[in-house]
Amino acid sequence: MTMEMMRSVSREPGSPPDKAALHWFDQIRELLLATGLAPLPEVYDLLWRYVHDDSHDLSLAVDTAIACGNLDVAAVTTLRRAHCGEVDTTLARGLVEAAHGQAEALTRRIEAGRSDLADYGRAIAGGGVALGSPLDTNGLAALLDQLGQATTTMQAANTRLEGELAAAATQARTLSERLGFAERAAITDPLTGVLNRRGTFEELERLQCETRDADRKLAATLIDIDHFKRFNDRFGHDLGDDVLRFVARHVADRIAPSGGIVGRLGGEEFVALLPDHDVHGAVAVMDQVRAELAGQIIRNVSDGTSMGRISFSAGVAGDRADDDADSLIKRADKALYAAKRLGRDRVLPELS
Ligand code: GH3
Ligand code: MG
Ligand code: MG
Repeated sequence: MTMEMMRSVSREPGSPPDKAALHWFDQIRELLLATGLAPLPEVYDLLWRYVHDDSHDLSLAVDTAIACGNLDVAAVTTLRRAHCGEVDTTLARGLVEAAHGQAEALTRRIEAGRSDLADYGRAIAGGGVALGSPLDTNGLAALLDQLGQATTTMQAANTRLEGELAAAATQARTLSERLGFAERAAITDPLTGVLNRRGTFEELERLQCETRDADRKLAATLIDIDHFKRFNDRFGHDLGDDVLRFVARHVADRIAPSGGIVGRLGGEEFVALLPDHDVHGAVAVMDQVRAELAGQIIRNVSDGTSMGRISFSAGVAGDRADDDADSLIKRADKALYAAKRLGRDRVLPELS
């Protein structure tokens, strides 16, 4: 069975009956045997998405990896990060360990402080007992000396504790900044700097709640660069990456001033979220963005040579009360598909 045939089976709509689920399971099993991949949960997850044809880009990337014979566990991790919103957990793990270490150090410091305080308490209590009985001059001098020493020790311990607490506060601030950085990294596409797939869906869900509560409109646009593979083939992957950055910036610069948000779903596919726009308004905005992009000649910054024009196709859908993020994006995807079929370089609204 070819990979194409395997995937075409999974395109049947609707929720699968058990028999179909078993069929998908068989496909995954065949893929495991064909690639020699270990049946790890993350491998299974990726192959499950693949046989369901969850995303065209993912399927294409897996097909390529299989064809090149390099679909190993490392490639699975990379593919999941690029296409399934999987996050690099190394940074998060490092931060958790740092937080544990810091909490332990702080506990040790507090315990040391408590023990110093207990010593001081005992010295004072001892002095109190001694004062309760008659004392001669020597006894009083010895008692004062003892209390003075205890106070000096306590003052030194206090100073030390103060310094250590100040250091702990600085460390806590650094840790909190690093956590903030990790949080942003988890929702940011490293190539273009716009939201990644996970960030886009989170933002869309947040906007759906916010706009519905305030009885405002929300439109989502799915954008796909036209003939991007050709561009890569002709000018190379690195310049292709530059184009992805350029397109992301081009769209963001034009929609951000009115509250629009851009995310990259993967590959050369982006989403533009436009609060306070109905489908008609969003089509007008996005068509302007498209025309400005398609009207420019793209030049290689290093030598100024022309790389021709870049265009995109897009589909727009308006948020409905019964939508979730997936259903809204799916309708935009259908409109995008129609835009591609009709010849590309255009923005189409969803069918009402
Ligand atoms: P269409 O107009 O139908 O969308 O054609 P297309 O060539 O844009 O679409 P296709 O899905 O056939 O190819 C998408 C290409 O995008 C293939 C893949 O190599 C490229 N691509 C995906 N992710 C990246 C990336 O991160 N960087 C670069 N440079 N290319 C990428
Ligand atoms: Mg695409
Ligand atoms: Mg494309």
